[in-house]
Amino acid sequence: MKKGLLIVFSGPSGVGKGTVIKKLMENKDLNLVYSVSMTTRAPREGEVDGVNYFFVSNEEFQKAVYNDELLEHACFVDNYYGTPKKYVEKMREEGKNVLLEIETVGAKQVMNKYKYDDGCISIFLVPPDIEELKKRIQKRNSETDEVVEKRIRKAVQELRETFRYQHVVCNDDVDKAVSKITEIILKAVQ
Ligand code: 5GP
Repeated sequence: MKKGLLIVFSGPSGVGKGTVIKKLMENKDLNLVYSVSMTTRAPREGEVDGVNYFFVSNEEFQKAVYNDELLEHACFVDNYYGTPKKYVEKMREEGKNVLLEIETVGAKQVMNKYKYDDGCISIFLVPPDIEELKKRIQKRNSETDEVVEKRIRKAVQELRETFRYQHVVCNDDVDKAVSKITEIILKAVQ
């Protein structure tokens, strides 16, 4: 059986990654599974442990790093995030295409480790308008002003990293972005 793809998917806070991913996951032809990350961030309202993230303490996170259980990890706006290695490998061995929704520092680690020949592809989702993006981060309302400000600064910083990705897709229209990404994935599995 052919090993599944490793799909690195990044984009700044507020760009609409969640909506795009939801639609991609609905397309059974893509044979996608979502890699649930580990994080030290507190759950937002409605987030479920083991579904959105594995919510862990700092100690638990450091233990996972120490035991080499993470494929990559990074600090993002005062919290740690990382990808559990085991699940990704197991799914890929089973022929599933694994989607990693991760920020740019962790993405760089993955892209340094895995190349196109290793079945790794990378996609960066950009907003059509930076002002609109800032408004969207502000509107989320689930974080303090300080965190919102940090996330905006981080978003601007992350947009400078697009050059590292094989594909840059603009989210000016969700359906168009989804169909573009669908095309990219289907082409890569051929
Ligand atoms: P949020 O707190 O908004 O859920 O996520 C913050 C950022 O962390 C987003 O850019 C998200 O893609 C990224 N992220 C989520 N999981 C991981 C992970 O496992 N590793 C890395 N490096 N980034 C992650």
